[in-house]
Amino acid sequence: MNITYQSIPKNHIDTIRNFRQDDFGHLVEVSIAGETGYGPCRCCLKQFQPGEKRLLFSYAPVTAANPYNEVGPVYIHEDCSTYRDSSIFPPEVKNGRLPIRLVLRCYNSERRMILACFIKDNNDAEKMIGELFADPLIEFIHIRNAVYQCFIAEVRKDQGTGS
Ligand SMILES: [Zn+2]
Repeated sequence: MNITYQSIPKNHIDTIRNFRQDDFGHLVEVSIAGETGYGPCRCCLKQFQPGEKRLLFSYAPVTAANPYNEVGPVYIHEDCSTYRDSSIFPPEVKNGRLPIRLVLRCYNSERRMILACFIKDNNDAEKMIGELFADPLIEFIHIRNAVYQCFIAEVRKDQGTGS
């Protein structure tokens, strides 16, 4: 089973950066990251360094016509590249400048949340994700900040064509 880690899609980020308004009519807010404003950036999935310019906007990570389609605030760098090492759990989410407590939210094919669990030790994250995807009902997983509850990245399984 191949597992992929995806940040917010590039086309959505491009729209936010170019038009400076989110899908919910809010003007994108610009701020400077402080010592504790770690993020991470939902584009490159790196933690913010103090002094870096950030954009804040509302994002709905579960696109579905059901009540799980929730909206929350996310930060991105004003300018950076999308996370590309999609087969690797984002290193700065796991062990960056500042520790991030994480939760995994598991969704089924109808895009409804069917399970959620804390990651007690971020070094166990890939192992936990592999075990969760052993359940055929789990279609994709969202990594979220366990304290602030904001969306960080989406995890998908690619069962491939082989056996
Ligand atoms: Zn970034």
